[in-house]
Amino acid sequence: MVVQGVNIRKKHQRSYTVGGQTVPGRIIEFEAPIHISNVMLVCPQCNRPVRVGIRREEGRRIRICKRCGNEIG
Ligand SMILES: [Zn+2]
Repeated sequence: MVVQGVNIRKKHQRSYTVGGQTVPGRIIEFEAPIHISNVMLVCPQCNRPVRVGIRREEGRRIRICKRCGNEIG
């Protein structure tokens, strides 16, 4: 998945020649996919970014704060 604005990468492309025409070098900006596990959630109880764990309950996946055990959205 891609989280917007989180993982902007810049790629420098050098100029190259194709068919006698020179294509100037440029900087390409793109959003790289970031794994959901790398996204820090702010726990409302701890009021700081925390790691989240998954608890399964009745087939549902519940995200919990690994710090205080609070359920997060
Ligand atoms: Zn917490």
